[in-house]
Amino acid sequence: MSACLQDTLSPLVRGRGKNRFPLCDLHVHTHFSCDSEAAIEAMCRQAVALGLRQIAFTEHVDFVPADVGFGFFQPVAYMAEISRCRELFGDQLTILAGVEIGEFHRFRSRADALLDAHRFDLVIGSLHWVKTVPVTAPFYSQPRPMDRAFGDYFHELQQMCSVGGFDIVGHLDVVKRNGFDTADQYNVLDFEEAVRSILDAIIRNGIALEINTSTLRGSPKQTSPGQAVVTWYRQMGGKLLTIGSDAHAPADLAVGWEMAVEMARAAGFAHLTSFSNRTPCALSLDGKW
Ligand SMILES: [Zn+2]
Ligand SMILES: [Zn+2]
Repeated sequence: MSACLQDTLSPLVRGRGKNRFPLCDLHVHTHFSCDSEAAIEAMCRQAVALGLRQIAFTEHVDFVPADVGFGFFQPVAYMAEISRCRELFGDQLTILAGVEIGEFHRFRSRADALLDAHRFDLVIGSLHWVKTVPVTAPFYSQPRPMDRAFGDYFHELQQMCSVGGFDIVGHLDVVKRNGFDTADQYNVLDFEEAVRSILDAIIRNGIALEINTSTLRGSPKQTSPGQAVVTWYRQMGGKLLTIGSDAHAPADLAVGWEMAVEMARAAGFAHLTSFSNRTPCALSLDGKW
């Protein structure tokens, strides 16, 4: 079954109220990731209960030896469970098989070997490490000044996005997830030039921007990235936009969906993006649903 449901999606959800029901969540983890205990089947049941049309599982693939997820991902077992759940849920839910690969630019050949060996629908590229330090750990940001904490991260993220090879850049300014007590400790406007350089790279390489809502659940209380970056991306010619909760448990699935949709609309997007077999397709935000 095609994951690209543009023509059939609107009638299915029409009349349910503006933004009330989420269409898709394209960033979800389960026990195939090192940091989740959720079952794929449980996530799918929650997705159906919420009225989602699509769910993308994006399990961690980590090649940094010091990462707790190093060597954890088991692709054969994962794809088998995806197949079982596709049978189980039939046409109630489109289930996409994906991965979230860390530090893609440092491990390009190993990442490509994995992607060549399995039929993934989408690949998120995320930067979780800057040199030898995990960026979401509180101790990444505490011992150094703000400009270095974000500046070093954005510098390496720009390198990763320039190399490309993945479909979506995950949680663009995720450094703010931990280590800051309040959102106003970080102002993206202070890093506009660096962020625009990243956006330029993803537009050139056909990589989608993600609105990651997991940072709504932590101290920043804002998505990653926030409104300013989504608007810059659109103004620069960016067309591919995804929404993902980064849920590691069923209760967090699609949380923040409504805010993310409003952000997309405010930036001028009429469509969200999904993927099938690593090909982007548009999901209409025409206001009729
Ligand atoms: Zn991540
Ligand atoms: Zn994730």
